[in-house]
Amino acid sequence: MLRVAVIDLDHCQPTKCGTPCIAFCPPVRNKIEAIKMGENGFPIINEELCIGCGICVAKCPFEAIAIVNLPSELGGDLIHQYGVNSFRLYRLPYAEPGTVTGLLGRNGIGKSTALSILAGQLKPNLGKLEDGYGWEEVAKRFRGTLIQDYFKKMSAGMLRVTYKPQNITQIPRAVKGRVREVLTRVAGSKPIDDVVKRLELEHLLDREVSALSGGELQRLAIAAAILRGGDCYIFDEPSSFLDVRQRVRAASAIRSLVGEGARVFVADHDLSFLDYVSDTIFIFYGEPGVYGIVSGPYSLSEGVNTYLEGYAPLENVRFRRYEIAFSAHSPPAPDSAGGPSIYWYRMTKTYGSFRLVVEEGSAKMGEVVGIVGPNGIGKSTFIKLLAGIESDDSGNRIEYRSLSYKPQHPEPRDEIVADALRRAAGKDFDTELYRSELLKPLGLDRLLDRNMMDLSGGELQRVAIAEALSKEAEIYLLDEPSAFLDVEERYVVARLLKRLAREKGAYIFLVEHDLMLIDFAATRLMVFTGQPGIEGHALPPMGMREGFNRFLSELGITFRRDRKSNRPRVNKPDSRLDRIQKEMGEYYYVEAG
Ligand code: ADP
Ligand code: ADP
Ligand code: MG
Repeated sequence: MLRVAVIDLDHCQPTKCGTPCIAFCPPVRNKIEAIKMGENGFPIINEELCIGCGICVAKCPFEAIAIVNLPSELGGDLIHQYGVNSFRLYRLPYAEPGTVTGLLGRNGIGKSTALSILAGQLKPNLGKLEDGYGWEEVAKRFRGTLIQDYFKKMSAGMLRVTYKPQNITQIPRAVKGRVREVLTRVAGSKPIDDVVKRLELEHLLDREVSALSGGELQRLAIAAAILRGGDCYIFDEPSSFLDVRQRVRAASAIRSLVGEGARVFVADHDLSFLDYVSDTIFIFYGEPGVYGIVSGPYSLSEGVNTYLEGYAPLENVRFRRYEIAFSAHSPPAPDSAGGPSIYWYRMTKTYGSFRLVVEEGSAKMGEVVGIVGPNGIGKSTFIKLLAGIESDDSGNRIEYRSLSYKPQHPEPRDEIVADALRRAAGKDFDTELYRSELLKPLGLDRLLDRNMMDLSGGELQRVAIAEALSKEAEIYLLDEPSAFLDVEERYVVARLLKRLAREKGAYIFLVEHDLMLIDFAATRLMVFTGQPGIEGHALPPMGMREGFNRFLSELGITFRRDRKSNRPRVNKPDSRLDRIQKEMGEYYYVEAG
């Protein structure tokens, strides 16, 4: 057995708790203790002495300690360990020249760690904390594998790696100037027009980088990586902040790199996106924040299906207790002819030079209305009209009875997470069900004592979603909940929404760019068309098949159902199915056959 002990220094508070972990650690072999106070003021667990009794884990009031046993064979596969008692990554993914390798796994499981190693930005220490190895020694450790060749070439300067990091919101701090200048600088002598067009940056060329929105920054970052060029490209979460059309365009721009024989790595949580862009899949499993193991390579469809199943055949390991399952048929919209519905009249809303026209429409009790459309087309504006936060151009304000609203960009308040959630959930907050169905799956059990002002973007998002879903209401409005969430968390949110709709007869509106999530949760679809930033047109909710046909025909992409898992899959452009479906006008539901 390989014993791995991790102390999460973000949660460990030795001055507050009086270190029961040290006090209760049973002495081994006459008095030697496995936990001692370290020089950094935090406890340190000696993994060789630790007997894995679990007392310290149970005694820690902040859930800061994790101790797991792994098969000892894994020891030789340790790639990197950030410090004593901290996160460990076992094994690495690799990409063959001329292929795109997709990385799938939970938040905090080591994807970015692996990618920054492959980018040459983080030198793996192979678990040796004192002083690291040189790249040559690292390469030797992978003797006889493709990774050895990769590291050898990289350390000799024979492999140029281009890296689009996960966090793009920091770009404006490091990169100054206008979009055109930034792109021409990285492109050198190459023309930029083609890439600019592919990523739809034409109208932004004269804009200052500091004035770009999240989706615009993301496209700039992807374009810059492509223009910089190289033998290997790494894209860490490229779909964030992009709408569906932009995701498709970004994916095809990334795919086009393999034509030149490049190796490409992509980590992402949008399964449709990853499915569209990848040739091969590596799965990261383990325990977020504690350890991550890389499994693969899998073929594309096998990899995604394996991930959904939660069982890694190569290691014979079940890494998730449940399976993420899709149904083969479009969900029936609740049949409530004559039953309770909510209505809205035709509305217009103007902001300066932008105008949104909302067609008259209604939602039925117990349904989840998925809302799709490009960025800047008025989806959030519609949600705010429904929420009664904004009035329409004629000054009318909708006043529905009770509603719960998760804005696209939740604002932090000066409040402790537990207090905020208790206020939202009432007496449910203290139930085991609330803990097991909401707090734990969204990883909020460990944030309860934190102030909302101190949370990261992803943490705040999860708190805001939990808050919105906990409230007792008739109408739930969720504006882009999937941002920052991993596949598991998206699935949890989707399941909770379905249950709220079904069991409480709620009316739910879900604005989303992750089509897998829409497919999973929505019963009907509301499509927004028009010209982003200029005019938006909100059609009334329609059946899933009609709605997706409407939406996807404008994008020019078609979906089929995976035979095994029933999940929707994007057809490769101009493939046989793509052509047949376009001819039939069936962009979405071709049932698995
Ligand atoms: P992912 O990309 O899969 O979300 P990461 O590779 O970013 O995961 O992080 C994996 C784990 O490593 C996390 O628990 C994270 O807190 C930890 N980690 C990342 N960078 C560092 C660092 N510089 N020092 C210590 N721990 C780190
Ligand atoms: P979406 O949610 O589809 O991305 P939004 O509803 O957020 O689109 O925005 C639609 C358009 O309205 C955008 O051009 C945006 O800049 C503009 N807009 C939204 N809110 C305001 C506001 N409060 N003041 C001025 N313009 C706004
Ligand atoms: Mg990451």
